[in-house]
Order: sequence, then C-alpha cells, then structure tokens
Amino acid sequence: MQEALFHEIDQSFDDMVKMRRYLHQYPELSFHEYKTASYIQEQYKQLDIPFEANVGGNGVVATLKGGKPGKTIALRADFDGLPIQDEKKVDYKSKVDGVMHACAHDGHTTTLLTIARVFKKYQQELPGTIKFIHQHAEEVAPGGAQPMIDDGVLDGVDYVYGTHLWTNTPYGVVQSSRKHFMAAADKFTIHIKGTGGHGGIPQQTKDPIVVGSQLVTHLQQIVSRRIDPLETAVLSIGTFHAGNAYNVIPDTAKIEGTVRTLNPSVQQFIIDEMEKIIQGVCKSYDVSYDFNYAKGYRPVINHEEHAELILDVADQLSEVNKAEMISPSMTGEDFAYYLEHRPGAFFFTGAQIKDGFVPHHHPMFDFDERAMVVAAKTLIGATLKANES
Ligand code: MN
Repeated sequence: MQEALFHEIDQSFDDMVKMRRYLHQYPELSFHEYKTASYIQEQYKQLDIPFEANVGGNGVVATLKGGKPGKTIALRADFDGLPIQDEKKVDYKSKVDGVMHACAHDGHTTTLLTIARVFKKYQQELPGTIKFIHQHAEEVAPGGAQPMIDDGVLDGVDYVYGTHLWTNTPYGVVQSSRKHFMAAADKFTIHIKGTGGHGGIPQQTKDPIVVGSQLVTHLQQIVSRRIDPLETAVLSIGTFHAGNAYNVIPDTAKIEGTVRTLNPSVQQFIIDEMEKIIQGVCKSYDVSYDFNYAKGYRPVINHEEHAELILDVADQLSEVNKAEMISPSMTGEDFAYYLEHRPGAFFFTGAQIKDGFVPHHHPMFDFDERAMVVAAKTLIGATLKANES
C-alpha cells in the first residue's frame, strides 16, 4: 500500500503547491486563526472525514478509522502565522498587511491535509486510526498544544509524530534526534529604574544606561563562567532601549532577552544567577529594578525508537540523500507537550531553497515546496511502519 500512497503524493504535488500558496496569501496571527480553521474544516467536509472544530481554541482534529485493526497514530501540523510584513516579490505573497507565514506552517497544513486525502482513498486497507491534529497558536506561548491536549486530543492515541519544514537544513535531508531535539525557550525583561538628568552633570544622576551595559556583560558570563561547559545553554539579549536625546541621561532602561536550555535544573540555575547578578549590579549603582522571567515551551524530547523509525522511513525515500540524527536545535516548539504525554518523535524536513537560504521568521522567508512531498511520505511511511511493530 505504501507504494500506492507515495505515488498519490507524487501526483498531488501541483495541488499541494496551489494549496500552500493560497494559505500563504491569507495568514492569521496566533489565537486569531478563524479563517484558516474554517478552511481546514471545509477540506475535511469535502473529504468526508469526521472532524471536531474549536478543540482547545481554534484547533481542528479529524479522525480517520481504517478498515483494518491497528494503532491510533496522531499526526500534527500547526497553522498560525507571524506579525511580519511579507517582503517577497512573488505573486503568492501575503495579502494581509503585517502578517506572514514566515515559519512554513502553511506548508505543514498543506502536507497534513494531503496525507488525509490520500489515506482516505485507501481507508479500507488502512490499519488502525489516524488523528489529524491541526494545531492553532504555535508561535506564541502558552501555545495551542497544551489546551488541545487538555481537550482530549491525545485520548486513545498510541504514538504522535510531527515535522517542521526547515530552511536551515538543505532540501533532501531529514533530521531528528534520539532524545533532546529542541530547547526550552524562555523570555525575560529587566526594567532598570535610575535617575535621569543633564548629560553634562552626571554626578546628579543614576545612569540606567551604564547599569544596563554592566548587566549585558555580566549576564553573558553566566553561560561562559558559571555553567558546566558540558551542559547546554544560550542567553541572548535582543533589546536594550533607553533615552531619547544625546545630552540627557534617561530615568529608565529596558532590556529583553531569551534563555534556551535543555535541562530544567540548568534553567533554574540560570534564573537564580540572573536574579543575583541583577540584584548585585543594581545595588552597587543604587538603582532599583523589575526582573520578569517568563518560562516558555519546555524542551522537545523525542522517544528514541520513534526517532529511529522516522529516519529509517526517510532514508528509504528516493528524494532523501541524508537522514541523520543531529544535536538539538536551540529553537523552541510546543510539540514538546505531545511528547510528554505519548511516545513519538519530531523531525526536521530540509526545505532550504538551493543558493537561497532565508532563515525562519524573516520577511523574505520562503521554502522549497518539494519538501512537502518528503514530509508527507515520511509521515505516511512512519504511520504504516508504526503499525507493524
Ligand atoms: Mn514554526
């Protein structure tokens, strides 16, 4: 049957491109994906596959019962866009001002809908049950995965699989990892409250820019000087805002950044060390502060035998020239939560355009659409293979 299904996917490529480009023109922001959710529901109506709408928010879950006994396998695709202006010069660029599918979730949605259509054609021969999880709100914590799980999306599910079309990885390469695959991704904000004044009379001020500069350099030393070099952590500061005029010392400064870790004890250690450093530096300059640390998604941790199953399947595909286990990526994903509840694996499907690398979340983002075929075949193959065990 796999052969026939793969043939159907090959035949579907033009339709996949059409669907993806349609979705690409109408992106919606996380937690506001109403039209995209309706579009997905409409597809399942046409396919005559039963589905539930408004699962944990805007989520849509369709269930296809095969004609043969077998496992229940969940496949997940997310469908939200990002607050980015699409600057591509293509006829399928976003028609929504300031909103863009800059993370390939349009491709994920197309891939999953196509898998559903192809499996429906072979429903009688299909072993077990497939749950198609269309998840809203992946881009913004607390995310859509947890509320969908709370709403019972994993009830009766044996295994769960998902992929991210990934432009950091060349087309033709599929990547996973046996354990940690993506990081916990947290956000912090520090407000420094000094005393502003005349740029020529600094002795009357408590300069928050100088304090903030100290914090930037001290905070960088948590990873380089306080953490075991064999542990993994990233601390990056993304914003530092203060002042409006060249000759005025401002009252306040604001610093924002992200912390990425794989291990909860390292994460907690960093939070504690940050607090100590901020407290110490601010005390030495006699300024006050607010420190807010918001934990984001927990790390994506794969289950070894499922990661191996994924790569075994991908390795057999004629489109794939490399299927490899990699070190974790320090990006985040709320696929983490599915894997905390059920065995399964998440993987990257290489989608980099040859000689045209653009990172995710970039205004010029685009991906090699052939990667949707690789993703679809890998997920189909994994679903069938998981039923053999
Ligand atoms: Mn994404």
